[in-house]
Amino acid sequence: MKKTFVILSVLIGVLAWNPSNGYPEANRIPAQFRGKVIRSRVRYFPYKLLALTFDDGPDPRNTPIVLNALKKYNAHATFFVIGSEAIHHPELLRMIVAGGNEIGSHSYTHPAHPSPAQAIQELDKTAAVIRKATGETPVCYRPPYGIIHNSLTQLALRRGYAVFLWTISSADTRPVSVMTLANNVIHTPNPGDIILMHDGPGHIRTTQAVPIILSQLTRMGFKFVTLPQLLQAWSAWERSHPRDMSRSMDRSHSYRLR
Ligand SMILES: [Zn+2]
Repeated sequence: MKKTFVILSVLIGVLAWNPSNGYPEANRIPAQFRGKVIRSRVRYFPYKLLALTFDDGPDPRNTPIVLNALKKYNAHATFFVIGSEAIHHPELLRMIVAGGNEIGSHSYTHPAHPSPAQAIQELDKTAAVIRKATGETPVCYRPPYGIIHNSLTQLALRRGYAVFLWTISSADTRPVSVMTLANNVIHTPNPGDIILMHDGPGHIRTTQAVPIILSQLTRMGFKFVTLPQLLQAWSAWERSHPRDMSRSMDRSHSYRLR
């Protein structure tokens, strides 16, 4: 009886991690970040790496402009796409991946408080759209409105997604000028910061600010990486500086390091 239980448990475990079931392939995310909320940069992290993130796309007007700017500066970013938009633009998803960027899930319809049943649809449908267009299963998730206390984020955590908030907001959802928006990012970064921006419909000013941000911060010696790359760098640094990292690590559900 006990043996049967063990075999069943292992079988369920294997099935749960089968990417074809809509679960994330977690191997690109270091183990300590899987199923965790990441809301702060790692304190004392010394490398001038930044993670630009773009939510609410893809958008046929804005996303290609952002991609071109990234390419020009040999920069990479993470795009948290909305599934119901992405399904109409598989070519944009392929362009994002072709540029060496990461695609994360930002749900299917951007709900604030979906039911548990809807939450499953929100995650599975978006993962399916991304996988169909690119062959890759998303491992990163950003909650709509940054809400982590709802059924959707809790499900994403149980599924093993790395759930990302941000450490710097460009405030590009507010009616500010392009220069203000750019300066919100340029004047504040520390190594390892995660920057919130938007490439969805209507965010033309963001596309104008991105080249300014890339130009200035590249000149200051920063490099722009995807979120899995940033986590891998954090993880490598943790292995070489275990004492520093343990001081800066919250042992509970999430990383609160700043
Ligand atoms: Zn959003």
